[in-house]
Amino acid sequence: MSNLKNLPSVEQILQSASNLIQRFGRPLTLDSIRQTVEETRTRLKLNPEADAPTIGIILTQAESYLNAWTTPTLIPVINATGVILHTNLGRAPLSNATIKAMNDAALNYSNLEFDLETGKRGSRLIHAEAILQKLTGAQSALVVNNNASAVLLILSALANKKRVVISRTQMVEIGGGFRVPDVMKQSGAKLVEIGTTNKVRLADYKEALSENPAMFLRAHPSNFKIIGFTEEPALKDVVELAHQHEIIVMDDLGSGVLYDTAKYGLAHEPTVQESFEAGVDVICFSGDKLLGGPQSGIIIGKKDLIEKIKKHPLARAVRADKTCLAGLTATLTHYLQDEAEREIPIVKMMSLTLNQLQARAEAWAEALGQGTVVRGESTVGGGSLPGESLPSYLLSISVKSPDSFLKKLRQQNPPIIARTENNKILLDPRTVLPEQEHALLDGLQKSLNANITN
Ligand SMILES: *Cc1c(COP(=O)(O)O)cnc(C)c1O
Repeated sequence: MSNLKNLPSVEQILQSASNLIQRFGRPLTLDSIRQTVEETRTRLKLNPEADAPTIGIILTQAESYLNAWTTPTLIPVINATGVILHTNLGRAPLSNATIKAMNDAALNYSNLEFDLETGKRGSRLIHAEAILQKLTGAQSALVVNNNASAVLLILSALANKKRVVISRTQMVEIGGGFRVPDVMKQSGAKLVEIGTTNKVRLADYKEALSENPAMFLRAHPSNFKIIGFTEEPALKDVVELAHQHEIIVMDDLGSGVLYDTAKYGLAHEPTVQESFEAGVDVICFSGDKLLGGPQSGIIIGKKDLIEKIKKHPLARAVRADKTCLAGLTATLTHYLQDEAEREIPIVKMMSLTLNQLQARAEAWAEALGQGTVVRGESTVGGGSLPGESLPSYLLSISVKSPDSFLKKLRQQNPPIIARTENNKILLDPRTVLPEQEHALLDGLQKSLNANITN
């Protein structure tokens, strides 16, 4: 018990903590010292033989609390997995122009809801609308927080208490528990299911007319693929039938792509333009999947319907913030100026050639003096293009214990996320941003050095 007497008081310790107070502020520093002293006291009571720690030791412990409390949990990582739109790793990294636009909107006041012409109140909804009209040909557009909220909003505004026809081929769960039929119910729409898991025909839609539906919903089964004995009618034919009976057609495209993914050797992903050209009334898609922009949900369509959606109370609840609107507009401008491949990181990743990837993987192997370069595959991810891959060259490293090596990589600063296959560590240059290469090699080298048994 006598050692407790030797424990310096909180007040005494605080007097030696000016350095910490300057960095972390007085209240938080005091908090960290109190916590450290309390824990020390408990420890000394349990173990009376132990020496009371010095002020220096207590401050070191207090500092580690202060660092832990003030370090953000959300930090950059290096994505060496080769999964381009890794939802767990934040989907799309943004273009420089997008980041600048978001930064400008964050740093300054803006005309977010202010009409500079009249000096009166304006609408935040106009900012991305003109460019979306120009890119897609749609009459009107609206941007919300994400595509899940877009789906909920559209159904709530246009189909509450009404019947909505959806094919069983499209009753998908897109990840994170977002199930299309559940969202439909949440919106107050009444589901009319047609077809079977693998087949739906125009005749099924015709038969559903007897239910007096207000809407046909097509949901793109983004993250899975039925192969073999399958059938879907052409969207154009579904639209034609709907319009003969004054039924609205909604298309949840999921990953709204504005370019043809086939040019990168991938399967063709339905584009926004195709859906528009088929005559669909309302289309929604994500801003941060294959579009490569900030998190957002984009709704385009006929003017009267978009007006109704804009006026629904939920529209306010799911509205996009100013940095999102500024960033999305900048990303869309890259498409307008035909520079997406050069400027938008995820589009650039898709367009990388095998020669470029091989050169990078070989440069990594040379810099490390370890590993071999092997053929492998990158994927698109993000609930897009299931089963599709892009050929790549990977750096393959043999280690004794792949799992503990992966863990070591995750402990680097910034953490490196890689994958393993057949007991080898695989690193894909496709998804490593060029600016991160130095940090990647540094982290890899440190992990290899720490791993004497590799
Ligand atoms: C991804 C996806 C959504 C949800 O989009 P978020 O932007 O993630 O909210 C909705 N529907 C489909 C078909 C999707 O693929």
